Amino acid sequence: MIAALEAFRMTHSRRDFLRTSTALAASVIAGSAASSFARTPRLLAPSSGPASADFETLALPDSSMKMEDLRKMAFELPALTYGYDALEPYIDTQTMHLHHDKHHQAYTDNANAAVEKAPELKGKSAEELLSNLAAVPEAVRGAIRNNVGGYLNHAIFWTIMAPNAGGPPTGHIADAIAKTFGDFAQFQAKINDAGLKQFGSGWTCLALGSSGLQVLSTANQDSPISQGLHPILLNDVWEHAYYLKYQNRRADYLKAWWNVVNWAEVNKRYEAALKK
Ligand code: MN
Repeated sequence: MIAALEAFRMTHSRRDFLRTSTALAASVIAGSAASSFARTPRLLAPSSGPASADFETLALPDSSMKMEDLRKMAFELPALTYGYDALEPYIDTQTMHLHHDKHHQAYTDNANAAVEKAPELKGKSAEELLSNLAAVPEAVRGAIRNNVGGYLNHAIFWTIMAPNAGGPPTGHIADAIAKTFGDFAQFQAKINDAGLKQFGSGWTCLALGSSGLQVLSTANQDSPISQGLHPILLNDVWEHAYYLKYQNRRADYLKAWWNVVNWAEVNKRYEAALKK
């Protein structure tokens, strides 16, 4: 990335570089490892080395713009906490690469681009934006709904999967599932059915609302958060999530997916949602 920046600088003065490329600028500020969904800067290239220390010494384009402001600007693609091949044979390595590095990256970039067009949204978390879409300027509302939704749905999705996982639920969520749906098999059938019946692209989801746990499907990248619900567990039924391995057999993918569900994380999400 350093080389790419140097090439960029060959054709742009530093001042223009900063003024015309705030998203890029935000992306090269050194940040901590991607692990949360907080709005922290990200590195442009997944394989990039240390961020440009040189950038830290550059003058900001506007003296009123503080480094903190730049840091708030960008959503960051969260790194996977396991290998791309870790969910084999249920989710194949190539799908994980494309899904995380290309699809999720695109939602992240487009979410940042949408926020750039409505500066009053800067600094708001994905949850804040999605929980009150009516407050988002109409000109960018669709882009925020789709791309911040896609950003957050995927960020949650990676965490609720893990290698050497699956099996029946554990912890408090196991009791809540039994109480709400009868037993685990009936719950699985509900989630799979919602995923199978979702026409076109979308998600199947377990969410907590004021009336308790419920299974729902959402279209496109719509977030349950926009319906006042807290997503606890969700599965991606866009074709990009399964088509390389399962082709048109969405039902097979839905069934296999239970082998990678990370119940420890699902429990964490449930406990956190109960406190909201
Ligand atoms: Mn997806």
